[in-house]
Amino acid sequence: MEKLFANDRKESIKKILYGYVNEDSISNTKKEKQAEKYFIDYFSSQKYFQENPEYMGAFPIENDALKRSVSWAMVRGNGTKTVVMIHHNDVVTVEDYKSLKNFAFQPDVLYEKLGAIKDSFSEEARKDYESGDYLFGRGVCDMKGGGSIQMQLLTEYSLEDFNGNVIVLGLPDEENLSVGMRTAVLLLKKLKAKYSLDYVLMINSEPHQRRNPEEGVFSFGSIGKVMPYIYVRGFLAHAGKVFEGFNPVNVMAEIVRETEVNVELSDVMGKEVAPPPTWLYLRENKLSYDVSMPLSISGCLSVLTFTQTPKSVLDKVKTICKKSFDRVIEDMNSNYTKYMQHGGSNSAMLSWKSNVVFFGELCSEAREKYGDDFQAKYEEYLEKISDDIFHERETYISANYKLIEFVYDYIDDMSPRVVIALAPPYYPNVTNKFHEGEENQLSNLYDVMSGFVQRTFGQKYVAENIYTGISDLSYSSVYNYEETLEGLRQAMPLFGKAYNLPIAEINEIAMPCVNVGPWGKDFHKLTERVYKPDLYYRTPQILDYVIRAILKSGEIV
Ligand SMILES: [Zn+2]
Repeated sequence: MEKLFANDRKESIKKILYGYVNEDSISNTKKEKQAEKYFIDYFSSQKYFQENPEYMGAFPIENDALKRSVSWAMVRGNGTKTVVMIHHNDVVTVEDYKSLKNFAFQPDVLYEKLGAIKDSFSEEARKDYESGDYLFGRGVCDMKGGGSIQMQLLTEYSLEDFNGNVIVLGLPDEENLSVGMRTAVLLLKKLKAKYSLDYVLMINSEPHQRRNPEEGVFSFGSIGKVMPYIYVRGFLAHAGKVFEGFNPVNVMAEIVRETEVNVELSDVMGKEVAPPPTWLYLRENKLSYDVSMPLSISGCLSVLTFTQTPKSVLDKVKTICKKSFDRVIEDMNSNYTKYMQHGGSNSAMLSWKSNVVFFGELCSEAREKYGDDFQAKYEEYLEKISDDIFHERETYISANYKLIEFVYDYIDDMSPRVVIALAPPYYPNVTNKFHEGEENQLSNLYDVMSGFVQRTFGQKYVAENIYTGISDLSYSSVYNYEETLEGLRQAMPLFGKAYNLPIAEINEIAMPCVNVGPWGKDFHKLTERVYKPDLYYRTPQILDYVIRAILKSGEIV
């Protein structure tokens, strides 16, 4: 293996990483607190932070059942320019390790044990194992590897007279709902006000994947995720009298067919295409068997975005729902005609009309009719549901269903309709393309970084606009703030209640972003591994170079 940089740095990163990985901080469990403590202990034992204890801390997450915090540390140098480095320190479960579960968090022991089963790996994984160039273990790649590099660099900066400021954030819950990053935005806002910081770049160090093993990847944005929740209300009838009723399953089936893997809903940017939508949840809402058709059916689909706002996704979904609804009515009418003709009657039409509304519109209808009485009761119910979510008696999905049913108690028009809401979580799509033309844009960031890699390692790195593994970078800025807010208010009942999304604050701290991390493979699997030359030598040098270049005025503009 090449030794392009001081071995001291390699040893330090390795030491940080082994300790960090050893804290088996599985996402959405109490153990996440261990990674938080590790981060805090690491920095608080250093001279710089002992002399400046106000430059680090644990920033608590509000209303968190697991009482987690965002851990952070900052080196303050000269001037106001500030780079923010983020990493998540939660990891996914270790089910995949089967009998090796106990060793998943000890890279060296695991490596030895994996030797016995390496022949069951894919050919690529086995070759990587035998090459000795990869470190295996849960979290070594996703992403305590990148996190350890960031912690090492901050330590180095604390030992010198530094140009600019650097913050490192250790974030919980990324593999779940990103409550860590959503909270960190509030911390960044506070620090910005307190120390007059000027945020110039947010760097994440998630691992990158390669199409060509020789070529690394820098990502200058992160994919968004919106989850439309669709509720179809039918009209109840006995199964023997189908034309007296309206089965909502029929409309929902049509909506699912029209949306599942529909590439027309995928955003395109250059040669990058967002993965098409897929349904994550779907069920009719009957509690037990009887001979009636179900009254309602609901579910939600995940839509990954590059450029769309929640509002533009909602508008597209509404159009699809309307078209599906009309087609089902047409189909029912044609069947009804045939049915009547068998009995000797002439053509006949049913009275069904399509009707598709957003959740906000359904509430307005209830409010118009029942005024303050509805509003007060609704708000009370929303509080109760939020509390139930906090105590894990409800999920975001079941809460959406219950809220729609609650509003329906105040709706007089009981004809069939589709109600569209948004379920949490919501990840804004971000890309530096949106910052073009702004004052602190970094138009030649890619040129500067790829030039450095080429000069130093003789290696090529390509640029992608969007990192498609969902990441915390989504909360580094909001594209089209007003429209985003409008969409959320229109359709996400839990927005600002059980689901905190500090969208105004994100807009205040907004900065360009980039992902620079080591090469890695098979995240979330037994063969999760990170490429050692990147982890110990190259990625730290690239990061160090870009941080220094950006903080020294004039290098990158
Ligand atoms: Zn990750």
